[in-house]
Amino acid sequence: MLKWHLWKRQTFTFFHIILTTECNLQCTYCFGEAMEDVDPDFPDSEVNYHLPRTISYNVDTLDRFCRQDPDCVLTFYGGEPLLQTNKIKSIVDNVHAKHFLIQTNGLFLDRLETEYTNCFHTILVSLDGDEATTDFFRGKGTFQKVISNLKLIRNNGFKGEIIARMTVMEPTDIYKQVKWLLNNTEFPFSSVHWQLNAGFWKNDLQRRKFDQWTTESYNPEIRRLVKFWVDHMEHHGVVLRLYPFLGIAQSLLKGETQSLLRCGGGWTNYAIQTDGHIVPCPTMWGMKNDYLGHINSANPLKLKQVFVSDPCNNCDVLNICGGRCLYANVTKRWDKEAYAQVCDTVRNLIKAISEEVPRIKSLIREQKMSPNSFEFMKYNGCEIIP
Ligand code: SF4
Ligand code: SF4
Repeated sequence: MLKWHLWKRQTFTFFHIILTTECNLQCTYCFGEAMEDVDPDFPDSEVNYHLPRTISYNVDTLDRFCRQDPDCVLTFYGGEPLLQTNKIKSIVDNVHAKHFLIQTNGLFLDRLETEYTNCFHTILVSLDGDEATTDFFRGKGTFQKVISNLKLIRNNGFKGEIIARMTVMEPTDIYKQVKWLLNNTEFPFSSVHWQLNAGFWKNDLQRRKFDQWTTESYNPEIRRLVKFWVDHMEHHGVVLRLYPFLGIAQSLLKGETQSLLRCGGGWTNYAIQTDGHIVPCPTMWGMKNDYLGHINSANPLKLKQVFVSDPCNNCDVLNICGGRCLYANVTKRWDKEAYAQVCDTVRNLIKAISEEVPRIKSLIREQKMSPNSFEFMKYNGCEIIP
């Protein structure tokens, strides 16, 4: 078993800045699920559902907090962070951070002045695939507006990484949609990440076909996508930045023998609520029992670290998986059987990539590509394990 208490942070500390609790969209898997989730109470955690709508702390307080870690990285997050463009500008102007990133639905990217947009290291933009798929989950017209904004910011000189961040669930065909994001002529993405909508809501399983979808579609299509990914390396000498594959393959190639939660949640990647309290990850907003301090008084380099527990700490693939999701592990919103269904997708993914490692290694040996092609900024908002 991992010696959690001995773990040293070997990277920057990341903080999601929850700028607002509001969003301008009502996506199916977020707003829609919340409407249907009639039992929002967590058995072991008192939840503050009444956080301030936008940040109630002073930006100077955030600066004092961040200055204690000269390498801290801030990711603007929400709700939708671009509903608070003035706060973004104020933080960029006044807070000392190594990098600024943003996770956004992309609809208001045209509202932020170019000088601010261009200082983001990375923009993670929510898109679920092609126009029909994205608009099905996120609302009609979303796709076209986001793509037009992305073209605009590229034309205005944004040089950083743009990651298409998909939320996937039935009936999405993962192979088809990821390939579309990579190859479309409107705005081909060089980086794609996806996360399963699984284990975040208590009452959604009965009305879903998660098991059938993962067995008949998601798992086989992931195997197909892994093969395509390595074929692409072989034919073009290029490692496509498909984050779930990148993270796992890098660990296997380096022979890493242990992994903590790959999103960094609770041990190197935290979230600051609108009221200044620090929680292990943005999804854990309001969960008072999990508060780790307040930016008024906490030291970012000495924050408590929290780790996944049962069933992950006895799992045979923990060293690669890392535990998938602290929120899912703590809240156990899905029962044991459903949790195991999600773990089956993790095992399938690990197996598919493991089977291709010999081929990847021989491509590196033949100098068709460099091992450096698998490098990426860890904890940038891509959780790696979907
Ligand atoms: S596969 Fe499942 S049980 Fe195993 S470490 Fe990952 S999330 Fe935990
Ligand atoms: S994977 Fe889970 S713990 Fe990690 S950031 Fe996402 S919701 Fe939080």
